[in-house]
Amino acid sequence: MTPATLWHATAPAMAPLPPLHGQVEADLLIVGGGFTGLSTALHAAEAGLRVVLAEAESIAYGATGRNAGFVVPNFAKVDPDDVRAHRGEPRASRLLAMAAGSADLVFDLIRRHGIDCDALQSGWVQPSHSDAALGRARERVRQWQALNRPAEFLDAAAVEALTGVKGWRGGWIDRSGGVLNPVAYARGLARAATAAGAALHEATPVTALTRTGTGWRATTPGGEVRAKRVVLATNAHAGQLWPGLAQSFFPLRVFQIATAPLPQSVRERLLPGGQCVSDSRRNLFTFRFDAANRLITGGMHILRPGAESRVPRRILARMAQMLDLPGTPPLAFSWSGMAAVTPDFLPRVIEPAPGLLAAFACNGRGIALTTAMGAELSRWASGTPADQIAPPQVALQAIPFHGLARMAPNVLLPFSILHDRSESPPDLRP
Ligand SMILES: Cc1cc2nc3c(=O)[nH]c(=O)nc-3n(C[C@H](O)[C@H](O)[C@H](O)COP(=O)(O)OP(=O)(O)OC[C@H]3O[C@@H](n4cnc5c(N)ncnc54)[C@H](O)[C@@H]3O)c2cc1C
Repeated sequence: MTPATLWHATAPAMAPLPPLHGQVEADLLIVGGGFTGLSTALHAAEAGLRVVLAEAESIAYGATGRNAGFVVPNFAKVDPDDVRAHRGEPRASRLLAMAAGSADLVFDLIRRHGIDCDALQSGWVQPSHSDAALGRARERVRQWQALNRPAEFLDAAAVEALTGVKGWRGGWIDRSGGVLNPVAYARGLARAATAAGAALHEATPVTALTRTGTGWRATTPGGEVRAKRVVLATNAHAGQLWPGLAQSFFPLRVFQIATAPLPQSVRERLLPGGQCVSDSRRNLFTFRFDAANRLITGGMHILRPGAESRVPRRILARMAQMLDLPGTPPLAFSWSGMAAVTPDFLPRVIEPAPGLLAAFACNGRGIALTTAMGAELSRWASGTPADQIAPPQVALQAIPFHGLARMAPNVLLPFSILHDRSESPPDLRP
């Protein structure tokens, strides 16, 4: 089944990949055909491994095909000093190096494999909604600059010049970030992985994993794969395949919308440099254009009966107000996807059994981070011990009272909105 997103509607088509049939041998089996699985497949096949990738639905069916296409080389809410405090050295430095180079890796892969995905390495901007957030932006710039990143502090005038929006207090930019069409990028990775020798299968759910001596046997409806190693790249779609995995993160439904193409005059006023923007609010405001001048934004929903169905119109209205648009533009696409969020906002690599790694939870920053994580996972598949790759390995840990705790982000949203309002100056829109 193909999701009805802007990206699926506008990406170059890809012929369906055949479901897996019969018995297959591999060095590495990858479960999941999103960015994590595809980047792992590409890098492992290029390293000479026999790679099989099984995707239950279609390539980019999960969050990979449903995001906003922002390429962001850092972590949601967490700065380099926090990473050092959470993970210790040398594990923190490995993770920071992975994140710091992640956007460059995405754009390098796109160039190297000639992937047609409307990619623009134009930068990612985080405007500050309050004076406290501006202080944090200054600190973020200092910490990422210390890692040789192209991070720059922006005053209010510079943010207004870049975004075309008045009211933000200032902010910062990482110039290695940018935008792309995520489905086109994923399909390009799939083509490159296939060309490197990986066998990719759609409509191939892995229904069971069994340890066999030194390797693994994976069962699918049409056959089985015997592999030396397995990477679970199922992110928020973990299901019941590995016990406890789905209880180790908060599954978060995030909504996205796209307008019809807008007049050139709007395009010239807003984001003339083609960056993507996510501001510093808890109920964050995001926006970017696609290649056809459609405006794209997103949001979450408050846990209230019927609230979900109203979200697309509500986030469209918010964007029209924030960007001072002449009226509310026509809504052309709306969709939603599941992100995986962890209590410390850091991605997870877990080795719940020998020869099996689960890698997930880029906390809404997955395009660049998962691409870079795939390169690391392929090093593990080639023999590097799991404790020497990034992100650092942690134990599989269920979130206490997961059945209730999983609703926390939506339950807390009204409080986040109130908190944002109390901090924001009156001249900044909602
Ligand atoms: C609405 C939204 C907006 C976002 N915006 C951005 C953004 O602008 N920038 C950014 O960097 N990040 C963003 N993110 C996060 C980013 O999209 C994700 O971090 C990233 O796509 C995760 O990729 P993945 O490959 O790990 O998982 P997914 O893309 O979710 O892929 C998991 C795949 O596993 C498959 N699967 C599950 N179980 C099985 C099984 N048993 N057998 C076979 N296959 C299976 C699923 O079908 C699915 O295709 C956003 C996320 C959402 C939801």
